[in-house]
Amino acid sequence: MKRLSVIIIAAVFVISLFSLASCSKSSKSEQMKNMQSQQVNTQSPEESIVRKGQIDLNAIDKNHDGKVYQDQMHWNVISDVPGICPLCDMRLQEVTIDKARENLKENGFDVK
Ligand SMILES: [Zn+2]
Repeated sequence: MKRLSVIIIAAVFVISLFSLASCSKSSKSEQMKNMQSQQVNTQSPEESIVRKGQIDLNAIDKNHDGKVYQDQMHWNVISDVPGICPLCDMRLQEVTIDKARENLKENGFDVK
């Protein structure tokens, strides 16, 4: 009788250990999923035209035509190709690099 109860306790212990392990495993994989989706969001092309930190206009002007497309409300939203500002849905305006730099400096942005 004593031995039986020991076996039952051991079995309960093992089962609870297994369920704990599977539980923490599933929550971990969910965390991984969340992290992956966040990474996808930050890498989407729309987000990437929102410039942060020091803005390098020559690097943005990939086709070297001396012109970029800049949002007239969010000066740090700059693209080398025509597009829409992801922040306010306004069409980006074609400006020369010099004009874009002037706009950025006037509005306190750090330009290379
Ligand atoms: Zn905008």
